[in-house]
Amino acid sequence: MDTHMPPRQKLVVVGNGMAGMRTVDELLKRAPLKYDITVFGAEPHVNYDRIMLSSVLAGEKDLEQIVINPRSWYDENGIDLIVGDAVVAIDTAARTVTSAAGRVVAYDKLLLATGSRPIAPPVPGLDLPGVCAFRDIADVNTMIQASEQHSRAIVIGGGLLGLEAANGLLRRGMQVAVVHLMGTLMERQLDKAAAELLQRELDERGMNFFTNGQTEAIFGDGRVQGVRLADGREIPGDLVVLAIGIRPNVDLAKAAGLAINRGVEVGDDMRTSVPEIFAVGECVEHRGKTYGLVAPLWDMAKVCADHLAREDAVSDYVPAAMATRLKVTGIDLFSAGDFIGDETTEEVVFRDAARNTYKRLVLRDDTLVGAVLYGDAQDGGWYFQLLREGKPLGSLRDTVIFGQAFGNLAAGAPTADPTVAVAALPDAAEICGCNGVCKGKILGAIAEHGLTTPEGVRARTKASASCGSCTPQVEQLLTLALGDGYAAKPAGEKPMCKCTSHSHDQVRRAITGQALRTMPEVMGALGWTTPDGCHVCRPALNFYLLVAWPGEYVDDQQSRFVNERMHANIQKDGTYSVIPRMWGGLTTADELRAIADVVDKYAIPTVKVTGGQRIDLLGVKREQLPHVWKDLNDAGMVSGHAYGKALRTVKTCVGSEWCRFGTQDSTGMGVKLERMTWGSWHAHKVKLAVSGCPRNCAEATIKDFGVVAVDSGWELHVGGNGGIHVRATDLLCKVTTEEEVLEYCGAYLQLYREEARYLERTAPWLERVGLAHVKARVVEDEAGRRALHAKFLHAQTFSQNDPWAERAPGADAAAPFRTLATVE
Ligand SMILES: Cc1cc2nc3c(=O)[nH]c(=O)nc-3n(C[C@H](O)[C@H](O)[C@H](O)COP(=O)(O)OP(=O)(O)OC[C@H]3O[C@@H](n4cnc5c(N)ncnc54)[C@H](O)[C@@H]3O)c2cc1C
Ligand code: SF4
Repeated sequence: MDTHMPPRQKLVVVGNGMAGMRTVDELLKRAPLKYDITVFGAEPHVNYDRIMLSSVLAGEKDLEQIVINPRSWYDENGIDLIVGDAVVAIDTAARTVTSAAGRVVAYDKLLLATGSRPIAPPVPGLDLPGVCAFRDIADVNTMIQASEQHSRAIVIGGGLLGLEAANGLLRRGMQVAVVHLMGTLMERQLDKAAAELLQRELDERGMNFFTNGQTEAIFGDGRVQGVRLADGREIPGDLVVLAIGIRPNVDLAKAAGLAINRGVEVGDDMRTSVPEIFAVGECVEHRGKTYGLVAPLWDMAKVCADHLAREDAVSDYVPAAMATRLKVTGIDLFSAGDFIGDETTEEVVFRDAARNTYKRLVLRDDTLVGAVLYGDAQDGGWYFQLLREGKPLGSLRDTVIFGQAFGNLAAGAPTADPTVAVAALPDAAEICGCNGVCKGKILGAIAEHGLTTPEGVRARTKASASCGSCTPQVEQLLTLALGDGYAAKPAGEKPMCKCTSHSHDQVRRAITGQALRTMPEVMGALGWTTPDGCHVCRPALNFYLLVAWPGEYVDDQQSRFVNERMHANIQKDGTYSVIPRMWGGLTTADELRAIADVVDKYAIPTVKVTGGQRIDLLGVKREQLPHVWKDLNDAGMVSGHAYGKALRTVKTCVGSEWCRFGTQDSTGMGVKLERMTWGSWHAHKVKLAVSGCPRNCAEATIKDFGVVAVDSGWELHVGGNGGIHVRATDLLCKVTTEEEVLEYCGAYLQLYREEARYLERTAPWLERVGLAHVKARVVEDEAGRRALHAKFLHAQTFSQNDPWAERAPGADAAAPFRTLATVE
């Protein structure tokens, strides 16, 4: 035991909110043993994510889901948490704080993190029951209760907070009126054009707006009954929510004699005018500025923790540009930096009225200083990164308005795939603005802890744990880190995507039940909220329509992921890998010669044998693809679909033809299976295998459909997965003939095609529907099995076209593979 440890100092924290607890969290990382920590919180709760109150109000989360640090966290770190007891006095001479309940606690260092208070308009009626702010859990409970007993709500304030309150109350079934002093909504975050689009959209959802509306009185007898405006208009309401702004909560600091202006004044080291008292968060004023968003608080927390941890720390708080998103489901809105501009700036504007999208970039001296995005805010993170870097845009200037993917293409990147875009970001790029988490930290956590899901990333890093708008980027980072090992979670009964409230299953049922035969028909009949859908729903709809109407529905290439569009796997350096099909894993000298010629001719750097017994040509440049395919095609080979949500390979062992143990011709069986199933599209990738005896050299028991020869015939196994979550197959049944193997396989795959949700592999599908159900349909119902098999074969007559042959050099279909002309 170290007997020379210095005695612990006493740290008292006033305010159990977001900035205070983040500082403690950072401090524990730096100096876990330096302090005995006492935290006072005026609210009767553990630390929770205040940002997410909007989601709780909207019914999207419950209170338990927004807790940041449970009681156990305080206990494990030896923190004495006192909740429901506000600190009412600080004695800077005696170095003690006194709480409302009379507790007196001494400190060596004191941290003030008292946040802010809602501003109330100077009008009568503020004390009436039914009037509240939108600041804490108590306010949200007041609103939820009101929505259960009353029907009309008035929100005063059409800023970020007011609109989130209005949306939540609307979602809870209330009629909502929004009173806003200014002519346009969110004037502090949006320019006029974006604000008008927003108002129109919220208007269509049923919000009533009273812009240029100055509240003169809140009236009511016993309980609030409405609001009167200065121009005489009266709005009836049973609940009034005040959301006109916040003011730093400085009362305590002021009474203790600390230097105060609008907030508690702090230096770059987060120290107040009293050296042993620090302050962070919304209660502070730093170089004349106060704050109302979380991102800057994380930087303050780090700097403050540095100084609390070490007397000789040198870090300084440097304010950075800030970004905002509106957390109203289905509305994509982002603004950052100086989005208004002045005579020294220029604007680049893009508006697509049909798609309801609007983008406005503000540039100064060839650098991006502000951005407003409405309708499609996917590139918000990228613009924010450019803005923070402050580098001259140079050649990016002409295309920057079209977003990151286009910018990358113009700069010579091979694809507009968002994964490629996120790959191009530096490690320091901020992905989660709410929690200040950068790309490097997320990738590091994925690698270090073997994370495979967004939930895992959330738990380890807090990225995407708050407003959730960075979840797509987190998923792209998972894809980047894990490749095929990351299977985006299939949606269950939750909406398919933000374009619809219908789940995958509902959409599938509607497609067949209402005979919807095209994407516009589906979107029209089911009330899609976007004109063309998005990157989430389009591939799924394309697949569902393809399965429902084979031969009739025309596959939509634009709705496919980049690998399927390019008919090749994109690799991490932007080149592609090409895999020719080798039926059942067999090849010939001619095929090998042709492959060798192609490798020489196109200087393909790497040739590799895959786990599925195929040959992978790696490092093929995009413009070479059609030529490589043509040469392979000319030698009789077709695409191996190694890139698709489709039948990939049928792995085989050498079987009875060569092996001493083999009881059946597994290779021949594999070839027949592959001839039957190649080219079939599925909800996810599908792999088959055939082993010639129970020694199972082809590893058939971790495949989607595995066949194992036994003395009496063939065992059929289903639902295996060799990916990150290894799952051994379930035994479906035993059959005796090769014809039966083919029939059961076709029926099984067709059932999977008809029932699985897009991006759901056979393993989770089987677990969801149950083996008994699959047995009932494929084994016990002979007529049903035949029908399923027949449907599969029928669909195959339309889908067994080699995509390579259709895209020979010179043909129109090869156009996407030509490199883009340089954008002048
Ligand atoms: C509904 C809502 C939605 C929001 N959405 C976003 C968003 O999308 N993006 C974003 O960046 N920001 C958002 N914010 C703002 C963000 O929550 C704040 O910036 C952040 O919480 C400020 O952290 P803080 O620790 O300074 O204050 P707080 O989190 O408010 O914590 C201060 C705490 O101190 C306590 N306290 C005060 N005085 C005393 C005392 N004397 N003794 C003991 N305890 C005391 C208070 O009760 C409170 O719990 C939102 C805020 C709200 C209310
Ligand atoms: S699975 Fe059986 S038949 Fe096939 S190679 Fe292995 S031992 Fe031989």
